[in-house]
Amino acid sequence: MPQTKFWLPESEIPTHWYNMVADLPNPPAPVLGPDGQPIGPDALSAIFPDAVIEQEVSRERWIPIPEPVRELYQLWRPTPLIRAHRLEAALGTPAHIYYKYEGASPAGSHKLNSAIAQAYYNRLEGVTRMTTETGAGQWGSSLALAGQMFGIEVRIYMVKVSYQQKPFRRSMMQTWGATVLASPSMESTSGRAALAQDADNPGSLGLAIAEAVEEAASRSDTNYGLGSVLNHVLLHQTVIGLEARKQFALAGEYPDVIFAPCGGGSNFGGVAFPFLADKAGGRTVRLVAVEPASCPSLTRGHYAYDFGDTVGLTPLMKQYTLGHDFMPPSIHAGGLRYHGASALVSQLYHERLIEAVAVPQLATFEAGVTFARAEGIIPAPESCHAIRACIDEALQCKDSGEPRVLFFNLSGHGHFDMASYDKYFNGELEDYAYPEEAIIAALARLPKVPA
Ligand SMILES: *Cc1c(COP(=O)(O)O)cnc(C)c1O
Repeated sequence: MPQTKFWLPESEIPTHWYNMVADLPNPPAPVLGPDGQPIGPDALSAIFPDAVIEQEVSRERWIPIPEPVRELYQLWRPTPLIRAHRLEAALGTPAHIYYKYEGASPAGSHKLNSAIAQAYYNRLEGVTRMTTETGAGQWGSSLALAGQMFGIEVRIYMVKVSYQQKPFRRSMMQTWGATVLASPSMESTSGRAALAQDADNPGSLGLAIAEAVEEAASRSDTNYGLGSVLNHVLLHQTVIGLEARKQFALAGEYPDVIFAPCGGGSNFGGVAFPFLADKAGGRTVRLVAVEPASCPSLTRGHYAYDFGDTVGLTPLMKQYTLGHDFMPPSIHAGGLRYHGASALVSQLYHERLIEAVAVPQLATFEAGVTFARAEGIIPAPESCHAIRACIDEALQCKDSGEPRVLFFNLSGHGHFDMASYDKYFNGELEDYAYPEEAIIAALARLPKVPA
């Protein structure tokens, strides 16, 4: 019987996170304030704990993982690396396909890796209340659980369309003790302004971020937690790639191509960065970020300074963006609907050290169903993006006869996304390519900064 799972013992949970910034070929672009001038770390102290701000700007290669965080990681880490023998057979490909299963976490996705760390640092610095936003609900669930573990009250602004479409994600957050508010809400000036313009505003991640940041900035007992995009979040997620490297050594293989779904970039960074360090050392691994054709920030966005939220409350970061006022069509299921991408991922893409592809919605569900029928696990719609790109590569290997080693991050399970699968089975989902006019128009609304 060929080996399927490559397990590591709990003692092999990484002791340090890997900081990609230490190995960037060029220094990161500075973060700018509203006046277009670089801001110092202290500008963030109203909403983040000092330890997190330190990580955000750190250039140290290895950052120790606090023992209480490692102990909570023990609840589900190390996650398994699985060889997809049955998927290979179903596709008839000579490729070797592996996936790392981050859906094994209690919250059902990779996001708990950072939530635990963020809640820990906030508690350490005496914070007892946190706000955040959530799109599809995975990040909100993760912070709800992490807050519960460290005795922090968590308030979650959930994008209204998801609040309505995914009631059980909401129940999950409530089970772990969090308060969930549909965004736009009447709780913030940003929310009230959005509702005044359009009472049926379906919400967006950028708008929910604005609401959560506004509340955190206005109260001294309250901090904010972000589930992706920022350097410290990508840092926390590197436990995925660090474990995977050891597991590939157990399997006696090394990946030729790595795929991860890319929204803000945290699970992509988490799985890819430790391998990118190997690439700098002479390995030839390709790293592919996979995004939806309906929200193609890397493949079709502008590389420019932009805000992280809709209203313009956050500092400006250089990133691939569709414009901070991007309003995704509410037809598209999934949590990859953010207008921008992590500054780190954007810079690496701009410098051509990583690749990106955009895939249409129907093809991603088709890939998810193929995967579920072969391997059993029902993937989150976000994860289906990586599966689509990986299957396409495996089919190319079939044509060329090359036995390449392919690896994707199965970032979460789809147990709370069955309504989306239902729509797919009922033929109610459509492909939607983000219109070129909207992308051009966004350019005109980017904040003006000195060159
Ligand atoms: C949030 C999420 C993603 C995408 O977000 P990133 O910040 O790019 O990691 C992908 N998969 C799942 C399951 C998610 O919950």
